[in-house]
Amino acid sequence: MAGWSLKWKFMFAVSAMIVLVMAGVGGVILSRERRMIAQSLEQKGFLVAGELAIASADKVATNDFSELSHYVNEVRKDREIAYVYIFEDLNKTCVAAADEGGSHEAQGWPYTRFKDQASLAAFKAEGPSHLHFSVGRRKYIDITVPIMMGKDSRYGLVRVGLTLDHMNAELRRTRDTVLAIFAAAVLLGVLVSGFLESIILGPVGALVKGVDAVSVGDFSHRIEVPTGDELGQLADAFNRMTHNISVLYNVSNAMNFIADTDKLLNLILDKALEALRAERGSIMLLDDAGDHLQVKVVRGLSAPSYRFVKIPLGSGVAGQVAKTGKHLIVNSGSQDPRFKSFQQSQESERKVRSLLCVPLQMEEKTLGCINVVNKSSGGDFNEDDAKLLTVLASQAAVTLNKARLYEESITDGLTKLFIHRYFQVRLDEELKRARRYAAKVSLVMLDIDHFKALNDSHGHQQGDIVLRQTAQLVRESIRENLDIACRYGGEEFTIIMPETERGGAFTVAERLRKKVEATDFPGQGEPVKVTISLGVAQFPDDSPDKNSLIRRADIALYHSKENGRNRTSVYEGAMED
Ligand code: GH3
Ligand code: MG
Ligand code: MG
Repeated sequence: MAGWSLKWKFMFAVSAMIVLVMAGVGGVILSRERRMIAQSLEQKGFLVAGELAIASADKVATNDFSELSHYVNEVRKDREIAYVYIFEDLNKTCVAAADEGGSHEAQGWPYTRFKDQASLAAFKAEGPSHLHFSVGRRKYIDITVPIMMGKDSRYGLVRVGLTLDHMNAELRRTRDTVLAIFAAAVLLGVLVSGFLESIILGPVGALVKGVDAVSVGDFSHRIEVPTGDELGQLADAFNRMTHNISVLYNVSNAMNFIADTDKLLNLILDKALEALRAERGSIMLLDDAGDHLQVKVVRGLSAPSYRFVKIPLGSGVAGQVAKTGKHLIVNSGSQDPRFKSFQQSQESERKVRSLLCVPLQMEEKTLGCINVVNKSSGGDFNEDDAKLLTVLASQAAVTLNKARLYEESITDGLTKLFIHRYFQVRLDEELKRARRYAAKVSLVMLDIDHFKALNDSHGHQQGDIVLRQTAQLVRESIRENLDIACRYGGEEFTIIMPETERGGAFTVAERLRKKVEATDFPGQGEPVKVTISLGVAQFPDDSPDKNSLIRRADIALYHSKENGRNRTSVYEGAMED
């Protein structure tokens, strides 16, 4: 049975149960019936024999047998009575009747004569006696009653044989009926178990299939059990579980490949909204000082000003969540006293019906929080939603932290531009890509003019301020997420410009140069003025490899220095002469 499916075990168990019950009931009914019929048959025999004994007493005593034969034949009409004998005193059969013709001995009956053991015993007995015998397969009851006159005088015996054939036929009919009911019950049992199988095991089979699918990593499998009972609820819970697992699985899979914090935050928010089926949401991160939350990504809101909203720690729903590290569900939306309005977005804030905010936590450290707003279904957020988002957030926080550490490791602390090593790696990558697509890459190198002198006259700190601000001007002058600005060394910067020809790079370089020149860098007294010199080289035209491209951009920069500084030079072969 070990290998049987539930369906067969079920059918087997139900059928076996029915067979057992029916066999028990049938057995009891049949044996009771057998006992009762046998008893009533015996009684009938005693009655008939007793009456015959009384009726025949004086006839036997006076040897007047003619009327007795009439009695005997009357009695014999009963088909249950096989034979009737009236024996007179000793050894003579006075009247006899058998059910079939021929000699009574030929019928095989043992009691055709008076002088057998049983007759002699019965003759002496106080009252009637009986015994059972069989001839071939036929069974009989033999009843013997002495013929008496008064109390002690005995003249003979009345002997009546009753056949059990009719009783057995009756019992057979009962047995057949029981068997028919039996068969019907088994059939019904099989049908009932088949029906139960379809309503219980059908859904269980679907569940088994679902678990199988999940065990081999198919989280998209959904179970359809629209019964609304416990099995239906189990299927719903299963579907929710696989949905949640698949969300978390996808999130962690996707996040593994993203080192860029911005892209990561966007992905986390998209996945959170998808998982919770929310209309909109945002992610806020604590600023460096750790006392304000800053909105980093938003979905479902058009107001770009949202990005610049800063929320003090402890203020509003998000502020409280970031402060306490505990999630909040606000289902009365903007009406909730904890909900705090942050200017610009009042219109959309009014549309907040239901809000769930969970902290982004790494170990004990809070990095920020995720907000999801308004369930698409229109319902409220509940603790199950909060649990799912919390698991998602804890995964997100770990990855976010990793991405931040990575970003820190490739970012220069003073200028927040990429470090030299990262510059080399990125330039390699960009040149590889350009080779594949036959594209151009321009490289700009720049150096602050007379920076040593500025350090000397205004001090190192002032030098640092100028460095930081110049880096900011560089960042503002280039294409976000396309051009790559790095701190090459002390006060030297490089800009990698993919898919840019030298002309375009020159324009950008000049714009930057003019901006720096026009900037009043804050100083102790008078604002500080600086200028920069720049050089541009173009891949692959000026150089087909990385090192010489850098050298040639540097040669162009040197050319600017040589020719009076505060200028941009585009590399030309003649510069190397
Ligand atoms: P030029 O480039 O116009 O030829 O003159 P320069 O004075 O800028 O020449 P050079 O490139 O030799 O000087 C670079 C100076 O930059 C040297 C160093 O003191 C200063 N410097 C390098 N790194 C830092 C830094 O992180 N902070 C500050 N304040 N100064 C730095
Ligand atoms: Mg310099
Ligand atoms: Mg220098």
